[in-house]
Amino acid sequence: MVFTDRTFVMIKPDGVQRGLVGDIVARFEHRGLKIAAMKMLLVSEDLAKKHYEEHAAKPFFPNLVSFIRSGPVVAMVVEGKDVVPMVRSMVGATNPKNSNPGTIRGDFAVDMGRNVIHASDSPESAKREISLYFNTSEIATYKRIDEQWLYE
Ligand code: UDP
Repeated sequence: MVFTDRTFVMIKPDGVQRGLVGDIVARFEHRGLKIAAMKMLLVSEDLAKKHYEEHAAKPFFPNLVSFIRSGPVVAMVVEGKDVVPMVRSMVGATNPKNSNPGTIRGDFAVDMGRNVIHASDSPESAKREISLYFNTSEIATYKRIDEQWLYE
């Protein structure tokens, strides 16, 4: 079964610096979601501003742009049934103070501006964000060997 639902996930510079990449990727793998693309990169100013353009007028925007460029990030395309809401629920609330234990932010983060991970909030945002970070040739199409045990 190949699900076409895709989301964009990015482990932010704090998650990379704190050595959380493996733990975070493992959560998606163990849940049964498929990593269709993954790369480490330094985000350019132009890309950072495009990624967060909906927040351009907000007071936290300059800090957000400089923070996201403060070190390498790990960008991913993740696939699975209803993957956009599923990954958002695994990520937890924007402010870690309100993120439930068991979520990535609830387990690994304290402060809003250091909340470890980004995930798309809708299928439309996912499409836009994936196209900002990945060429189609960088996204793999394959079956996980356990798909028949994950999906009924
Ligand atoms: N952010 C912040 N201060 C705020 C609101 C947001 O630093 O008052 C940062 C935070 O890192 C958040 C990102 O801006 O993850 C994007 O905000 P959004 O509301 O889109 O939250 P998300 O979708 O990441 O949960």
